[in-house]
Amino acid sequence: MSQREFSSNGTGPESRVLSPESRFPELHPALDAHAAAIEANRCLFCYDAPCTAACPTHIDVPRFIKKITTDNLRGSALTILSSNVLGLSCSRVCPVDVLCEGACVMVRENYKPIEIGRLQRFAMDRFYEKPDPTWTTPAPVTHAEKVACVGGGPASLACAAELRRRGYAVTVFDNRPLPGGLNTYGVAEYKLRPQDSLREVEMIRSLGVEFRQSLVGESLSLEEVEKEFALVFLGMGLGTMERLGIPGESLPGVIDALRFIERYKTSPDFRVSGRVVVIGGGNTAIDAANAARRLGAEEVHLFYRRSEREMPAFKSEFDRSKVEGVRFHWLAQPTEVIGFEGRAAAVRFVETRLGDADQSGRRVVVPVPDSQFEFACDLVIPAIGQARLAELLEDTRGISAKNGLVVVDRPTGRTTNPRYFAGGDCINGGREVVDAVADGKRAALAMAAQISS
Ligand code: SF4
Repeated sequence: MSQREFSSNGTGPESRVLSPESRFPELHPALDAHAAAIEANRCLFCYDAPCTAACPTHIDVPRFIKKITTDNLRGSALTILSSNVLGLSCSRVCPVDVLCEGACVMVRENYKPIEIGRLQRFAMDRFYEKPDPTWTTPAPVTHAEKVACVGGGPASLACAAELRRRGYAVTVFDNRPLPGGLNTYGVAEYKLRPQDSLREVEMIRSLGVEFRQSLVGESLSLEEVEKEFALVFLGMGLGTMERLGIPGESLPGVIDALRFIERYKTSPDFRVSGRVVVIGGGNTAIDAANAARRLGAEEVHLFYRRSEREMPAFKSEFDRSKVEGVRFHWLAQPTEVIGFEGRAAAVRFVETRLGDADQSGRRVVVPVPDSQFEFACDLVIPAIGQARLAELLEDTRGISAKNGLVVVDRPTGRTTNPRYFAGGDCINGGREVVDAVADGKRAALAMAAQISS
């Protein structure tokens, strides 16, 4: 699809297209040293640290903040990295308001929580300005057993780094030209720039982790992987985005949210104009809607088939989107993308109401008779979730899957085939980067224990 296909009929104000730096200023600008010192000194250094308990990777928050107060930034960064090797990206993309900062005791006392995310970013930025050799020197390989990590995203990277630092030879298999998975290609740029994701990849490479560009399961079979590697970690994430299943969705001018985000992150001159319709109510839909605004769209309208109350996006993301100027339409479900002169020109919707809760506890969506309406637009961005991949594995190599997700023993990440472990989105259906990091690290520890037993 050409860049032209993402523009409207040419009447859009291209003068609105800003440079990459100014169109995507970072969501939480960096603290300078003075501001970081003041913020770090607000911390109470709680002995029971609910912030640490709320972090899936259990970063010792009071410890790393304390080190900032004494200007021991190296020690602060190493404290973070010892728990979370992707401390840089997590400091930018974590939903801190529902994790560490949401648990901060300051909230209970009606004070502003300590800005843990920005302090973590401060420490990690300093680390990457001058990486510490103890974290960038390959450890000697002390074990004969090699480990393969399938997928180049956060779960695989965390697993690979942990095992490599413990003396195992590890190879990450990823089909994309650049590793990093969603961190590189799928997270909105105002949260995480590709170059930041790649700095972490390079650090992990410097530890001695090997990266091979190959699609396991297609160009390279699992049987072949098993011949070379003693254990395999599956961190391949989810598949492509779900299709709407309505007429017209294959027309030019329709692009799913992940492809849209990938396209603008990898094409500096990518632009959007005219009126954009985003379909979905999750964080990815919000990311795409915000980006469309920043890329020059005059209007961005987000349609969700349930109400605001049921919207799965985090409240902070929703609030931000309103500030960006995204307009929200509730209780409307698309039934057709209408084409004109060979490309999407409008979406037909039907109004909905919410019925009783189904077995999952969610209220069912019921179309309202005779309520169809059309909404003209220049670009349609469906964002209704990613397909699950694990069916591909079902009954393969004895790895069980259920509802499209790999079945694992939760504490260890071990699958029903003891040579395979798994973590990240392919076991949880799509959660946060920090959850994937925690899964990868947990599995690495279990794999090391299994090899040593
Ligand atoms: Fe500091 Fe808040 Fe964590 Fe207490 S809960 S250690 S005040 S960040």
